[in-house]
Amino acid sequence: MTDNTRPGPGAALADDASAEPMLQVEDVHHSYGTGAGAVHALRGASFAVRRGELVALEGRSGSGKTTLLHMIGGLDSPRTGRIVMDGTDLSALSESELLDLRRDRIGFVFQSFGLIPILTAAENVGVPLRLRRAEPREREERVALLLALVGLAGHGAQRPAELSGGQQQRVAIARALANRPALLLADEPTGQLDAATGLAVMELLRAVVRSEGVTALVATHDPQLIDLADRVVELRDGVVVEK
Ligand code: ADP
Ligand code: MG
Repeated sequence: MTDNTRPGPGAALADDASAEPMLQVEDVHHSYGTGAGAVHALRGASFAVRRGELVALEGRSGSGKTTLLHMIGGLDSPRTGRIVMDGTDLSALSESELLDLRRDRIGFVFQSFGLIPILTAAENVGVPLRLRRAEPREREERVALLLALVGLAGHGAQRPAELSGGQQQRVAIARALANRPALLLADEPTGQLDAATGLAVMELLRAVVRSEGVTALVATHDPQLIDLADRVVELRDGVVVEK
């Protein structure tokens, strides 16, 4: 069930397919509510992310970062505009195709970690593999590899409450990578961590983007995190200001 057609990190960049951006956001508008009370969260946001890039989506609170990540992740649809992921226009997909895309091609990391409290770290990482009905043996091997990748090899049996915030976010990153997503979306992943722990988590993200060949878009207003990005895209009042 693994996708062997996806170009790996070593794929020739001159190749037509891999030269195409992983993500294109084109003139996306979105508002909440209608009439005089409507909040215009996105007002024509446009940018692209190349394969293998780590892009920081910077912007003050309320600038539209979370709204944009929800649109890109297929959790909500823009009022107007286009989002094209890996050549697929998301608006052309049915609800079940969007579900498959979210499960197989996109990994999410949230500010609040989003782990399931009654499951162990290993079980949390294994959830996306269960959803994909991976064989138990494949699942166990992948979970062990991912826990090692995020520096938690000895912590698989612990529940989230028995882990520090930084460790919980590492588990969440491992979970997000479980199905070898093409695109990793992270919404203020260091927002609940102290500066040193946040930097370590961001360095981990930086490392996995390279080692796993994943493309990442990370919403943040953390300057340490912005420094580690390949490129910064700034959102201001729902519009992108490229830096
Ligand atoms: P950010 O993540 O950059 O803080 P958001 O995307 O959460 O920005 O919010 C952008 C704007 O949309 C803000 O003005 C916010 O209050 C508004 N907003 C976000 N979600 C909702 C919602 N579910 N209903 C109404 N307004 C919302
Ligand atoms: Mg937000």
